Amino acid sequence: MSKTVIIGSGVAGLSAGITALLNGDEAVILEKHSVPGGNLTGWDRGGYHVDNCIHWLTGTNPLTKTYKMWETLGAIGKRGIYYPETLYTYEKDGRSVSLYSDAERLRRRMISLSPADEKETDRLIRAVRAASSLCGIDLQKNGERCALHRGVLRCPALAPYYFMTAGEAAARFRDPLLRGFISEFLTENFGALGLIFVFATFCSKNGGIPRGTSRDMAGRMAARFTSLGGRLFTGAEVAKIRIRGSRAVSVVLEDGREIRADHVIPACDPAAVFGKMIGAEYMPAALKKRYVSPSYFRFSSCHAAFTFEGKVPFKGDLIIDLPGDLRGGMRAKTVVLREYSRERSFAPPGRGIVQTMFFCDEDESGRFVSLGRDTERYAEEKKRIGERMRKVVLSRFPELAPSLGLLDVWTPATYNGFTASEAGTYMAFAFSSKTIPSFTSGRIRGLDNVVLATQWQRAPGGLPNAALAGVRAANLTAGR
Ligand SMILES: Cc1cc2nc3c(=O)[nH]c(=O)nc-3n(C[C@H](O)[C@H](O)[C@H](O)COP(=O)(O)OP(=O)(O)OC[C@H]3O[C@@H](n4cnc5c(N)ncnc54)[C@H](O)[C@@H]3O)c2cc1C
Repeated sequence: MSKTVIIGSGVAGLSAGITALLNGDEAVILEKHSVPGGNLTGWDRGGYHVDNCIHWLTGTNPLTKTYKMWETLGAIGKRGIYYPETLYTYEKDGRSVSLYSDAERLRRRMISLSPADEKETDRLIRAVRAASSLCGIDLQKNGERCALHRGVLRCPALAPYYFMTAGEAAARFRDPLLRGFISEFLTENFGALGLIFVFATFCSKNGGIPRGTSRDMAGRMAARFTSLGGRLFTGAEVAKIRIRGSRAVSVVLEDGREIRADHVIPACDPAAVFGKMIGAEYMPAALKKRYVSPSYFRFSSCHAAFTFEGKVPFKGDLIIDLPGDLRGGMRAKTVVLREYSRERSFAPPGRGIVQTMFFCDEDESGRFVSLGRDTERYAEEKKRIGERMRKVVLSRFPELAPSLGLLDVWTPATYNGFTASEAGTYMAFAFSSKTIPSFTSGRIRGLDNVVLATQWQRAPGGLPNAALAGVRAANLTAGR
């Protein structure tokens, strides 16, 4: 039985570990943090639960291969999946529009809001329907070609969006509400195709949320790994992979312990792998290119969580404008308010929790990471974010004023410290127009028994791409 050592217990690492065990290998996961899950996590604060991750999980439609993958990985729990009626609602100047799970309902709503945009709305909905039939993520075998590549450019409904960013697709609408609805969800620089695939995923019941949300899902996957005989060590930060000739022979921890390995699967941020564990010269060329390509970019976000007494005054995710004086000099023009009333255990009876999130681009994220090293200034900045976000929440829901309390603030520096992701980015590269991201192999040239498994192998990352990278890496080490 050969021994596979996996570095990192995020979704990629757990998926690699489970697959290695199912392939008959011995598997050990080394995780630097005190809990497994990586970005797929949440934390308890003063009787409340703060969820960090799942907004939608691609692969919740039981008819898809991705769902089968999640089942094999133990990700779907007994409580099942929550299928929200809307993925998000965008509000502007007292009007609102929601992304419904029913594409026809969405079409009718958009046309009723702006009859002048009927042609453009029909074009968008046609593209959403066409995208539903192309499932680019359902690839579990190494060497399988991507359905997206085959399908998108040959599909008349989708091809025009290949050339556009979400901002350009939005500009085709006359109504500012519909424009914001299109441009403000993933940000205006994101490729329009990416946005259409999110709409299509949600409208085909393939973007639900496992009940219990992020930390529960990570816990289930970790339990699946250990129940199959895998060994998971937390508080085990890897310093380097020891290499002899063209093979890795062991993994060395920061505390000096050394673990022998027949195969090594680094399942963490490429910056941690190629900046610390093995030399930068080993980074696969295709991955390196993405770091410098203008078509790909990185992002992160700032968050705050608030508690209040009474009922949540809105449902799901609500995107509202971020007034100029509350932007704190940052570029984000909107903020997402997110509520969790569906999860009763997230707040004490009679109380609720609402989280805010606004995106940061790569420069802004990097600045937060640097600021995070200065404890005092960073604490002040977090306090300012909390105050600004409080004003944002109250500008929309003044009735919460008597009981609204700040629970937590976290930023790209948190992600950098938590998962060692460079610049605090937590999704892989976002992509702009004229891009159909392909899957980068985890093979590392010059090393026979080291295979990378990370969401960064396919933009825009996310949980299914991380899981897929893990499954594929373990299959590669097993010669599949
Ligand atoms: C706010 C937010 C919202 C999100 N929303 C969604 C969503 O709705 N849908 C979706 O699909 N995705 C979403 N994501 C993205 C998703 O969480 C990530 O794509 C995914 O978790 C990445 O998994 P990973 O295993 O590749 O990496 P990570 O989660 O980064 O895991 C890497 C692991 O490696 C460990 N590690 C790093 N260095 C070392 C070392 N030296 N030694 C040992 N261990 C190490 C880290 O501690 C970490 O546990 C969201 C993320 C965030 C933060």
